[in-house]
Amino acid sequence: MAPRRPRFLRANGSSRYDARMNAPDHLLACPHCAAMNRAPVARLAEQPKCGRCHAPLFTGTPLALGEADFDRHALRSTLPLLVDFWAPWCGPCLQMAPHFQQAAPLLEPALRLAKVDTDASPALGNRFGIRSIPTLMLLRDGAEVARQAGAMTREQVVQWARMQLASARGR
Ligand code: ZN
Repeated sequence: MAPRRPRFLRANGSSRYDARMNAPDHLLACPHCAAMNRAPVARLAEQPKCGRCHAPLFTGTPLALGEADFDRHALRSTLPLLVDFWAPWCGPCLQMAPHFQQAAPLLEPALRLAKVDTDASPALGNRFGIRSIPTLMLLRDGAEVARQAGAMTREQVVQWARMQLASARGR
């Protein structure tokens, strides 16, 4: 598939977007039907819809991922994934849950947010060596970029994720 240039770049022409003109498209898994979608980086903020099921590719809420669908979003999708590893019996996890939820619309579409229940998906916890929960982990191309253990507030989640994204871009 040939990469498409975002159409509004020509009309807009602002220098903020010029730097992204040669940025590659992102591959994104649809949260609803799991189809892989190609989306120009500069158009992610324009509420892109799935080419197959036409539902929004960003929902403003973390995706609950398990062993069956994790790699589709973590590895096959090129967008960084911010994962909250948690379990239903963990008090601090439950305290953090609404904060993580509220961070989603603030951080999308720079990244996608996901939750992994380590009781329901122990193989994912083992794969990443999760020793305590909650653990927040930023992944890019399926690989860990950074992790932080312990409950965080919405502001801390947003600040931490933005900081890690910025330093990851420089690598
Ligand atoms: Zn879809």
